[in-house]
Amino acid sequence: MLKNKKGLPQFLTVAVIITILINIVIYFVSQSNYKQIDYSEFLTMVNNKQIESVEIDSDRLVITPKNEDNASALNKKLYYTGNLDYPQLVDKLYNADIKFTTPVKNTRLPIISFLLSWILPFALFYFLGNFLMKSMGNKLGGGAMSFGKSNAKVYVEKTTGVSFKDVAGQEEAKESLKEIVDFLHKPERYTKIGAKLPKGALLVGPPGTGKTLLAKAVAGEAKVPFFSLSGSGFVEMFVGVGASRVRDLFSQAEKQAPCIIFIDEIDAIGKSRDGNIGGNDEREQTLNQLLAEMDGFDSSKGVVILAATNRPEVLDKALLRPGRFDRRVIVDKPDLKGRENILKVHSKNIIMDESVKLNDIALATAGAVGADLANMVNEAALRAVRMGRDKVKQEDLFEAVETIIAGKEKKDRVMSENEKNIVAFHEVGHALASALQKKTQPVHKITIVPRTMGALGYTMQMPEEEKYLMTKEEILEQIVVLLAGRAAEDLVFNEVTTGASNDIERATSLARQMVTMYGMSDKFGMIGLESIQNRYLDGRPVRNCSDEISAEVDREVINIINKAYEKAKELLKSNMEALGKISSHLIFKETIMGEEFMEILNSVQNKELANA
Ligand code: ADP
Ligand code: MG
Ligand code: ZN
Repeated sequence: MLKNKKGLPQFLTVAVIITILINIVIYFVSQSNYKQIDYSEFLTMVNNKQIESVEIDSDRLVITPKNEDNASALNKKLYYTGNLDYPQLVDKLYNADIKFTTPVKNTRLPIISFLLSWILPFALFYFLGNFLMKSMGNKLGGGAMSFGKSNAKVYVEKTTGVSFKDVAGQEEAKESLKEIVDFLHKPERYTKIGAKLPKGALLVGPPGTGKTLLAKAVAGEAKVPFFSLSGSGFVEMFVGVGASRVRDLFSQAEKQAPCIIFIDEIDAIGKSRDGNIGGNDEREQTLNQLLAEMDGFDSSKGVVILAATNRPEVLDKALLRPGRFDRRVIVDKPDLKGRENILKVHSKNIIMDESVKLNDIALATAGAVGADLANMVNEAALRAVRMGRDKVKQEDLFEAVETIIAGKEKKDRVMSENEKNIVAFHEVGHALASALQKKTQPVHKITIVPRTMGALGYTMQMPEEEKYLMTKEEILEQIVVLLAGRAAEDLVFNEVTTGASNDIERATSLARQMVTMYGMSDKFGMIGLESIQNRYLDGRPVRNCSDEISAEVDREVINIINKAYEKAKELLKSNMEALGKISSHLIFKETIMGEEFMEILNSVQNKELANA
């Protein structure tokens, strides 16, 4: 493996070698046209008139023979012989009618020929090499000839410019990282007492919650350089490169201590080593090197390693043992207050109307992570500009929320009158089921404007407050709400459509979770029949039970769904007037807000009460 510390001398050597080779080749090629002969032979040729011309040099004669066999001028063989001190030669040649000449000594010629044969090729190769290196370096992120070298250097930031203020809603995570900042500031304080300093902290949490941001903030707060490298950046196609990158990264970092090394997406290298037969040699070597380096370096110098992952469960146990990433900082999805604070951070530089209530937006975005919220604020600002306004309004923010949840409005899609009807009744079915039950969330908005992500219309519910627990009753009512869309279609049109597929999926998964994970079915009680893997990513459930039980679980789920569907139908059946009125209003207006909806519903209900 080529390993060099400085790129420049290597180019030079290569260019010099190539130039020398070229000159040698030129020399041999030109020599192959010459043939040495004896002086006597030369004289014989003169006598036999076989010579065209002679060039008389100080030390030799170059003889061009007569062109006998029509050989082209280029590959004609020339002869040469030493120059004897033979004064009569000139006469002899003259008499034999042979052209002769002696080269004029041109004092500039050697310089020019030197330039042409040495400097020019050298320069050419030097620049060509340089150019290739650069363009390849851009592609490979390290340069073909220096691939052993860490390109971590590229990512060094003297100051990240991010501080804890820029990270909102992660108070606990910040709290545990503050100590690391303090340690980077005054390592002596800790070493004096004899405390061992933490070597590394692992930031764990779902994507987009601000792990990378937090790591930068730690560096920014501590005002130390920040070396960052993504886990995937270590693993290359060449075996051994990753390991040497790790080595390099650590040696560079140690020179700059105190500093922070940040390995993003560490699961790319830190995946558990067992379980994959055949394995990935490269990744394993890289991981081993990382483990070795983490053990080897002296934390009292002030190097702290931060790493981030959203799949902590796949990490190799060796990485997690004390002395390596001995701290685990959970960076979870933000709660209501956290979301509001994140919205505040990102709307700092955005001009907002008085109508904006970030608290409401935070309420409507349960489950959103920091990256989503940052994106929403920006979308809202873009929308305000599109609308020709110079301030962001609450409606821009809500529209942005919906855009992120359901996709952009597709105003130009023309739906047939019939389909519009069906969608309207379907959505009002959801809304009514929600309004007619006690433990559901209030309706915020109903719309039948189609969205790019496939929804033909939707009903948006908004919680009044953040909830961390759901009761069994709440879940059951939610399932009823989800199924009420289809129930409305069924009741009004006596026909069912494909529009309910997403509702069905969500209702089924809720019902299944009730049975398998929440212990909410009478039949199974509190047995954990499924568990969630990859908690921070998709959270796919994994079955923990036998086939027989699994079949029974399915039956139980079917039971719950069927009961809920009956309930939804009953609810709507006794409110057909409201269903009809609200739906026709919705068809007319395309979008109605929660208050409008409640008004119509209340007036219908009051009328019914008066009649009764
Ligand atoms: P992760 O590394 O956890 O996937 P990032 O740190 O890359 O997420 O976050 C992406 C972006 O989302 C950040 O640059 C920031 O703009 C925004 N963001 C995420 N979390 C927060 C937060 N807690 N506070 C403020 N902004 C955040
Ligand atoms: Mg990240
Ligand atoms: Zn629906």
